[in-house]
Parts: sequence; C-alpha cells; structure tokens
Amino acid sequence: MTDKTEQRVAIVTGASRGIGASIAKAIAAQGRHVVLVARNEEKLNAVKAEIDACPCDGTASVQTCDMADGDAVAALVEGVAKEHGRLDIMVNNAGITADTLILRMSNEQWDEVMNVNLRSVFIACRTAAKPMMRGKWGRMINISSVSGLMGNAGQANYAAAKAGLIAFTKTLAKELAGKAITANCVAPGFIETDMTDVLPDTIKDGAKQFIPLKRFGAADEIAAAVAFLASEEASYVTGQTLAVDGGMTMR
Ligand code: NAP
Repeated sequence: MTDKTEQRVAIVTGASRGIGASIAKAIAAQGRHVVLVARNEEKLNAVKAEIDACPCDGTASVQTCDMADGDAVAALVEGVAKEHGRLDIMVNNAGITADTLILRMSNEQWDEVMNVNLRSVFIACRTAAKPMMRGKWGRMINISSVSGLMGNAGQANYAAAKAGLIAFTKTLAKELAGKAITANCVAPGFIETDMTDVLPDTIKDGAKQFIPLKRFGAADEIAAAVAFLASEEASYVTGQTLAVDGGMTMR
C-alpha cells in the first residue's frame, strides 16, 4: 500500500471522457492521486467511480473548471497544490476544435481554441512549476496533435495552438531541467473519441489511407504513452514530442 504522504499527485484536465479519462485511469493505476478536471461534474464522478473500483493504490478526486477562464485555471492548480501539499504531474489534455476554412474563420473561433488549447496550458504549467520546484521533481505532459506537426486544412486555429504547445513545452523543458522537472508532448493521430465521432465517414475512410497501421487509435493507446512520460522511469526524457499516430507522421 502506498504511504499517502508519499503518494504523487497529478492533475489531468479534460478527464471527463475520451483520452483524458483513459489517461487519468492509467496514472491512477500507477498508484498516484489524480485530480480529475473538466466542466461536466457528473461525468467526472463516473470516472472517479471507476478509479475507486480499480484494484490499485491510485485514488481520485474531482474539480470542475472551465479551461477558457485563465484565473480559474490558476486557482485550480494553486488549490490542488495547497490541499495536497504537493503537485507532481500536470497533464494538459483538455482541448476543443472549431473547424472551418481560414476564409470563414472568425476571430472568436480563433480565440476560443487558443484560450482552451494553448493559453490555459501556459497558465497551468506556470502555476504548477512552483510546487514542482519545491518538490524537486515534476512531469508536465501536454497533449498536442498530428495537426500541430503537419497542419491540417480546416484547422488553422487548432493546428496553430497544437504547434504552439510543442515549442512551449520545449521551452519549459529547457527552463525547468535543472529542477528535475521534465516537459514533453504527446501528439495523437486519429483516435476514436467524441472529437472524431463527428467526422463524416468519407473523411475517416480517407484518413485511414494515410495511416500505415490502417486504423484509428484507442484512447488507451495514448494513455499508455502519457503514463510512461509521467513515470519515474521517464526521468531522462524531456523536450520531446511522442507521436502516437499509427505511423502517420513518420519521416
Ligand atoms: P473529447 O472526447 O472531445 O474530450 C475533450 C475533453 O476536454 C473532455 O473531457 C471535455 O470535458 C474537456 N474540455 C473541453 N473544453 C473544456 C473546457 N473549456 N474546460 C475544461 N475542460 C474542457 O476529446 P479527445 O478526443 O479525448 O481529445 C483529448 C485531447 O487530445 C485534446 O487536447 C485533443 O485536441 C487531443 N487530440 C485528440 C485527437 C483525436 O483524434 N481524438 C487527435 C489529436 C489530439 P467537458 O466537456 O466535461 O468540459
């Protein structure tokens, strides 16, 4: 049984469903305490119930937060560090799309995607850095996308935010390396979640042609990569972007 004073504490944003829910369960399975964050409390509680029922040392609690509200994000991260006396792992997974071609994209569509997908991550990591520095250990993991590596028609806002995350994360890695804090990105390809469910079949079938493994990924396959980067064993990996995409972006 893990001594609770020694138990590492993680925040996972966007943990109410999809990739974030899988990440939260994978980190809990490592024996961590995971703070599950999103807007939908009912769905967060359902994920917590799954973790409570899991035969592992991991535990979970629920906090609602709108990642579009920067002050709320800072208060959330500060509050978790204060309540637990530590913060070890920060997984920024919450993300949205507002897809349309550039000529039709409004300033509002640009801003809302930037706020949730990039600005919130800056605020969360800036706030998380202080307790991690005090603890002389930390893992920051930001969920980017193959769109951030390749660009994608109809996703100027999303691709720019996801590419921004990669450079931001490399910068964090350089600034925080001396404190044994690592910072890495995972870049998923097409993963079966609510986000991709809405795509027309023609787009899904077309996409599979460009994926060497000829299928979409599962949320658990992203979670496994994140769990590795969050582990003690990943201590010499920093500033990297791990594409988990069925080979889609290999060069
Ligand atoms: P999803 O099924 O749509 O889930 C999105 C999660 O983010 C939900 O938990 C949602 O919770 C939360 N969220 C959205 N807006 C929020 C806000 N303003 N404040 C707080 N939480 C918010 O998406 P997913 O497919 O699991 O994607 C997870 C991450 O992977 C995203 O960053 C996405 O860009 C990235 N990604 C996904 C794919 C893919 O193919 N699925 C590919 C590449 C990258 P609430 O609605 O309860 O707030």
